[in-house]
Amino acid sequence: MGILESIKSDIKKSGQSKRDFIYFREGEKRRIRFLTEFEDAEEVTFHGNWEKGISVPCQELFGRDCEYCGDDSLKDSANYAWCVWDYEDNCVKIFMFKVNNCSPVPQLTSMYENYGTITDRDYVIVVSGKQMNRSFTVIPQDKAVMRNKKAKPFSHSRFLEKLDKAFPDDNDNNYDDEDDGPKHRKSKHSKRYEADDDVDTDDEYEDEDEDEEQRYEDMSAKELYKLCKERDIDVEPKKLKKFYINQLEEADESDEDWGDDDDDEDDDW
Ligand SMILES: [Zn+2]
Repeated sequence: MGILESIKSDIKKSGQSKRDFIYFREGEKRRIRFLTEFEDAEEVTFHGNWEKGISVPCQELFGRDCEYCGDDSLKDSANYAWCVWDYEDNCVKIFMFKVNNCSPVPQLTSMYENYGTITDRDYVIVVSGKQMNRSFTVIPQDKAVMRNKKAKPFSHSRFLEKLDKAFPDDNDNNYDDEDDGPKHRKSKHSKRYEADDDVDTDDEYEDEDEDEEQRYEDMSAKELYKLCKERDIDVEPKKLKKFYINQLEEADESDEDWGDDDDDEDDDW
């Protein structure tokens, strides 16, 4: 399969699910807020071969056997992923990059070393140049508290779900259906992916907006503690999960009373 064909089919299959990942176009400027601390990045090994049009996360991440592991024709690369708030699209996205010359990660590393955190301020990411000459500039903004209640990182399991959906393993049936003609295989696959997208994506969206308590339950005590800190709730470390959830829920209620900074609720004053 040629690159164009392969990319087009990827877009068709997973255009919907890739919206959870943040992409930068040339010349673009985007303001984001990191919701995951630098050292809590998700590390994802990708198996890839540009000519074959393969770029797929190691399937072992999802608890499946990985047919790509140990395949000499593929190159492994480490990607790091953080959750960010995308101010333009007004939603949580996954910011995932390799560490190389055209990646914002090296600059982000310096920011982290400088400030001791990457979550205490917004960053503007500026992209210039094309393809191999693409470069990123990471511009730190003034330190400011983020009060948007929807700006919460995905849990580990939710992250994996989104990753799996955005970068599906196309070849998972290749060895089984060698007798099938290519046409047959193609239609079978595209049908399956369409069905997946229809069912899952809608559900997820409802979950994210409505099921706030469930989202706290998904998080670890450490994540909850950090969330408290981000929201300026005065808590001590190493408490039980339940304790942090109570604190956050109380804060959610009082937030509702006086409204978010970013909302249009100023009339209530
Ligand atoms: Zn693998």
